[in-house]
Amino acid sequence: MRLLVEFWRPNTAQEVTLVLGEKDFRRGPSARPVPYGLTMPYVIGTACVDVMHKACVLQCPVDCIYEGARSLYINPDECVDCGACRLECDAGAIYYETDLPDDQLPHLADNAAFFSEILPGRDAPLGSPGGAGRLGRVGADTPLVSALPRRTTDGLG
Ligand code: SF4
Ligand code: SF4
Repeated sequence: MRLLVEFWRPNTAQEVTLVLGEKDFRRGPSARPVPYGLTMPYVIGTACVDVMHKACVLQCPVDCIYEGARSLYINPDECVDCGACRLECDAGAIYYETDLPDDQLPHLADNAAFFSEILPGRDAPLGSPGGAGRLGRVGADTPLVSALPRRTTDGLG
């Protein structure tokens, strides 16, 4: 089925219409409750740490996937919930919030915290910068990601 998404690009007065392809990227009704009460439709998990090849960034229609030091993070306020990034991530690092396996659940709050908490070397939260390209590489991570062991050729640790 052809999926047509219309949205307002943040911080601009320009309306754009987007054709994402022949698939319906959205998931069905939630399979499990979200424990944190957050609005965070798509979440980047551990599999992105120390990978960061940014294939997902190229697919994001609103440029809301931001670059930390060792991982990427989706801005929950800017994401339009299209799912294009998840299809592009061959590392399997991107989950719909209700599909997160138990060991990835901490990344739900963590992705949001990247924007709502003060990161190392900064004096204020990032908030909603309105575009990862405009902001550039942040170069810092959340405590959760920073504490993960460095990835080796056969995985983490
Ligand atoms: S495509 Fe996946 S592994 Fe690559 S940068 Fe994006 S989230 Fe990380
Ligand atoms: S689902 Fe992924 S590609 Fe779509 S807006 Fe959100 S972060 Fe960007």
